Amino acid sequence: MTNQIPSRIAGLQELASNLSWSWNREARALFASIDDRLWLATRHNPVTFLKRVSPERLQACADTPAFRAQYDEAMHWVRTESQSDNTWFARTYPELTQSKIAYFCAEFGLHSSVPIYSGGLGVLAGDHCKTASDLGVPLVGIGLLYRNGYFDQRINVDGWQENMDDTFDLASTPITPIVNADGTDLTVSVTVAGHEVLVRAWRLMVGRVPLLLLDADLPANRPEDRELLSRLYAGGVDLRLRQEWLLGVGGVRILRALEMEPDVWHANEGHASFMFIERLRELREKGVAMAEAVTTIRRASVFTTHTPVPAGHDVFQRSAVETVLPPVWKELGIDADAFANFGFHPHYGKDQFHMTACAVRFASKVTGVAKLHGEVSRELLHPMWPNRAVNQVPVGHVTNGVHLATWMANPIMSTLDNHLGKDWGFTLDNPDTWNRIMKVPDADLWTAHQHLKDVLVDRIIEKARRSFARGHKEATQIVGAGTLLDRNSLMIGFARRFATYKRADLLFHDPERLRKILTNPNAPVQLVFAGKAHPADVPGKTVLQRVYQFTRDPRFEGRVAFIEDYDMHIAHLLVQGVDMWMNLPRPPLEASGTSGMKAALNGVPQLSTVDGWWAEGYDGTNGWSVTAPKTSDEDAAAANNVYELLEREVVPRYYDRELRESVPTRWVATMKHSIRQAGRYFTAARMVQQYTNEYYAPAIIGGDFPDDPPTA
Ligand SMILES: *Cc1c(COP(=O)(O)O)cnc(C)c1O
Repeated sequence: MTNQIPSRIAGLQELASNLSWSWNREARALFASIDDRLWLATRHNPVTFLKRVSPERLQACADTPAFRAQYDEAMHWVRTESQSDNTWFARTYPELTQSKIAYFCAEFGLHSSVPIYSGGLGVLAGDHCKTASDLGVPLVGIGLLYRNGYFDQRINVDGWQENMDDTFDLASTPITPIVNADGTDLTVSVTVAGHEVLVRAWRLMVGRVPLLLLDADLPANRPEDRELLSRLYAGGVDLRLRQEWLLGVGGVRILRALEMEPDVWHANEGHASFMFIERLRELREKGVAMAEAVTTIRRASVFTTHTPVPAGHDVFQRSAVETVLPPVWKELGIDADAFANFGFHPHYGKDQFHMTACAVRFASKVTGVAKLHGEVSRELLHPMWPNRAVNQVPVGHVTNGVHLATWMANPIMSTLDNHLGKDWGFTLDNPDTWNRIMKVPDADLWTAHQHLKDVLVDRIIEKARRSFARGHKEATQIVGAGTLLDRNSLMIGFARRFATYKRADLLFHDPERLRKILTNPNAPVQLVFAGKAHPADVPGKTVLQRVYQFTRDPRFEGRVAFIEDYDMHIAHLLVQGVDMWMNLPRPPLEASGTSGMKAALNGVPQLSTVDGWWAEGYDGTNGWSVTAPKTSDEDAAAANNVYELLEREVVPRYYDRELRESVPTRWVATMKHSIRQAGRYFTAARMVQQYTNEYYAPAIIGGDFPDDPPTA
């Protein structure tokens, strides 16, 4: 039950009902100022916070003039600015403000209280929506409501990852059902494996952007169908196929039921490719000829591919597709072979339906997520256009970016407020804004950073204490959970999915050399790891186990830690609180990577192999690049280079100061270069503007487009 909120501050409820509070500093500070312990205990979830906060406390706040002033300011943003027409999009494209862009993705990472994401793809989609809201880009998101979330990670004594359900209570989120005028649920029906499944949608407001989340957990559905959308990436390929069919077809039908006529359709990754099939069916139903229907769809469609790793591209057996899908080919007026051709990829043959191949047939605008990834994708997709040269394959790129207001910590923002002028947040596209960072006094930036590092260490210790108290852990595991970490030693963060190509264990290639680096009494170094392995990825879990075992190895003196249950909350603490970020993917398999951008925005420089965004991001001043010749043992060469960089560059620079308390000015210079480079080029504002200018707006305006369907 919700508390009675004093009427003077009743807008708190409204504030909590739109996720925009999560990137609005005034709103966050407002909740924290009501009861900061409870704000922390509810993991920054204003919906649960308002249910649990004491009525006396709310009344006291309502009676305090300073609080009321703070409240009015936060409400001003929600009620006035969020409604304003004066947005970047409206100023740039005044004639297009009535248009609509549908953005389909299988996961969205917006806040840790809504666990419907697994990692990078979801967080990127979340940042895309938040930024579209900031810029006034008329986007509507379509995704799936996984009621059982992704999973909670527990590591057992042997270092093996165990998965627990991460069920969340919808009533603790601002997610609301979409209903018809008569109050009944708005539903659409989708045929799956020979029978009808009812799908309804929920709405989550992300600032100005509505996100529609599909759900099949309805009493009218068969029990097994009610479970279809309950878990993210947890079932086998067959469940995945059903989920993707529901996303594509259900998503289009829900939009139609809401009378939305999107002008642009963006499939963010191949999971959403069935959306194209449903639109084709609609056009064919209206009697549009096949070739013309395909052209119409291509003209209005954007497809982003996110990884060169084959496991990231869904491929379904043709027989499975023909079992799960109804015979749509009949409705399309073609035979089953012609339908199978939509998913034909020359490397996979006639019996496989390749979702990426399907997407490139129906989207004229295909993009990778970084410059290097664009090149790699042209090579990978070359078989689809065998008559073209590789560099002529019609695939471009928009380098990823991260949502600044979500990822940059308050103390860093306050430092910028103090030295860049209060309005720096409104002049982000001006390079001068970011050049001015070099003038910020070293001590101020350093103090803000040290504060964030304190917060990180406090939270790590508290988390370890809680799991010890709940009896989940043995004492040595508590050391491995980071209880011996120290605030004055260089702390390196490594947090990402435990896919083998990310090489989380690369640093342990030569444990003795690493031990010397970590335990040097004059310049100790600590490593903090976090990340989940995909539940079905045994090699990934094995890498995790290997890393975990080092956390308990006394030779490393408690200087290697593993933080369980990586999610957006832990990600925030880490990218804001460690001293350096490390990223060691095997090139060219990291399409972009975004955690390093988040770290850089907080003045946390990166040491990385030259892959993904770092191939564009490294400018010689903002971190370190690992190089490894392609020898027979590329891993050994890369590990060796990492050790060298740590020994010769990183550690000496960090400890180069008079006294332990002094500001390490050479290090702070690297921090500033990190912020400058990330702010100029790697924010989601730059990314969404580029999508809009190069893809969305041209698709709406029409005219010529590179209509060059695959020839294979
Ligand atoms: C940013 C983020 C990621 C993606 O990080 P990469 O650098 O792309 O590996 C994954 N998970 C969470 C929770 C994140 O916040």
